[in-house]
Amino acid sequence: MRYNKATLQIFIIAQGSIIGLILLILMLSFARLNDVRSVLSTVTSNAVPALTQATALTREVQHLISLTARLTSSENQSARRIVKTQVDETLSRLQSPSLINQDSERYLSTQLNVLAQEIDELNGLVRRRISVEQEAHAEREALFLFLNRLVDKSSADYLSEESADVLVSLILQIAQINQQFQLHELRLLETQIENAIEALAELSSGARHNELVSSLSSSVLGDEGMVDKQANILRIRGRSRGRGSFVEHLAEEVATNIEFKAANITQETSAKGQKAIAGVSKQITQSLVLSGVVMLICCIIIVYIYKRIILRLIDLTKLVEKGSTEVENFQGSDEIARLAKSFASYFERVRSQEDELIRLSLSDALTKIPNRRAFEIEIEKSIALAKRHSWPLTLILLDVDSFKGYNDYYGHTQGDECLKAVAAGLNSAITRTTDFCARYGGEEFVVILPCTDESGARIKAEEIRACIESLQLEHKKSAISDCVTMSLGVATFNYSGTKEWSLNTMLNEADAALYEAKASGRNCCKFASHI
Ligand code: GH3
Ligand code: MG
Ligand code: MG
Repeated sequence: MRYNKATLQIFIIAQGSIIGLILLILMLSFARLNDVRSVLSTVTSNAVPALTQATALTREVQHLISLTARLTSSENQSARRIVKTQVDETLSRLQSPSLINQDSERYLSTQLNVLAQEIDELNGLVRRRISVEQEAHAEREALFLFLNRLVDKSSADYLSEESADVLVSLILQIAQINQQFQLHELRLLETQIENAIEALAELSSGARHNELVSSLSSSVLGDEGMVDKQANILRIRGRSRGRGSFVEHLAEEVATNIEFKAANITQETSAKGQKAIAGVSKQITQSLVLSGVVMLICCIIIVYIYKRIILRLIDLTKLVEKGSTEVENFQGSDEIARLAKSFASYFERVRSQEDELIRLSLSDALTKIPNRRAFEIEIEKSIALAKRHSWPLTLILLDVDSFKGYNDYYGHTQGDECLKAVAAGLNSAITRTTDFCARYGGEEFVVILPCTDESGARIKAEEIRACIESLQLEHKKSAISDCVTMSLGVATFNYSGTKEWSLNTMLNEADAALYEAKASGRNCCKFASHI
């Protein structure tokens, strides 16, 4: 079966384009969604745990920093021990595998180890400071007890009143030793105490007085004396403060490192998220554009189908309904155009067959001139026209004379030939295009002469009769001639006539005239003169 390749190709290309574009949209959407899935997966499996871990680490490190400050400033051993236990717990939490992966976070792990060592050293310093402070405190207490007792007894014993006054001011100066927090101020106080002891020595009143001065000098100013001890305490304090702030800095560095890592993760995740969002936005735009293209192609296809198929099918339906053969609208060589052309040629064939059928139904099979049915149609029209225009109308009935005898003598076949010759003769006698002749039945014929009055009818009827006689068709069995002749009954109708105009009345009148012609010896024309 042949079909139009161009139409098919257009449809295949259009459908292929639509399917291709839809697939493209699906693939791009899938790729973008995959990106989003991967970002979400990173956030869920990496970023969120990492950030949670970073938050926990930072919290622990901040706690460690505050504990370090508390450790540095511990006033007694039990407080120091409590803080140290908390520090150790915090450090062990920090170094636990749940917070730090020893393999992947080596730097952080090393930093924590260093931090732990530094805190241990700090703890040692603080322990030493507290123990020296306690020692100095005990000695100071003992000295003050002795001096107090001495001052209470001074007026009654070996100290003069002036010496006792110097001793009291000396006691007050000694009491300030442990309140010194700056080494240079301590040294200043030391000089003042030295001067006071010297002043006390100058007021000496005997051996016991000298012994007191010497004892005071050695317990306050000598090696391991109160001033030296306070200086030592200040040094240990300075070292432990320095160590403490070093540990705090170290811990802050660890915290910064953790925060930096968390910030990196956040930045990385955020960058990935931004990239995915940008991809999705781009995808939305692309999908919208591609969907627009798909819709445009669909619209073009719909318009194409509407114009190229639907409208033409409607036209084709109208063409078939009307049985029209006009196919100018159906240009091209596609199926619809070919169908329209096929219908048109089919209708043409049917029409010509119809025409042929009509022609056959209205013509006489033997003589090929119009038959009785054609005559009846023609006479109705002629009567209507004559009435409409007040024209006269003549009807002639013709009958072959003694035709029974002809048939009997020459045979039926020859009789048919004779009838054909008579019909041809009649046809040739009808010269006006408006005149009409037909075979009425058997060997009878009929002639219609429109617009012909009686005088004209007389001339024309005689002409016809003479024409048939002039054919000289041999007829040995005719009683009136040796050739075939015809008798004619003529009836002419005028508008002003009294008779009613109808086919029957006209035929009756013409038949009566024909009967008269037969009765008058045949081969003549008789007229229904009384009409
Ligand atoms: P008349 O002069 O009175 O008309 O005599 P007639 O012999 O013609 O009279 P009638 O009308 O009785 O005879 C007509 C004959 O015509 C009878 C019939 O056999 C013959 N006939 C009628 N139709 C045909 C036909 O189609 N072919 C032939 N061969 N003969 C026909
Ligand atoms: Mg007859
Ligand atoms: Mg006859």
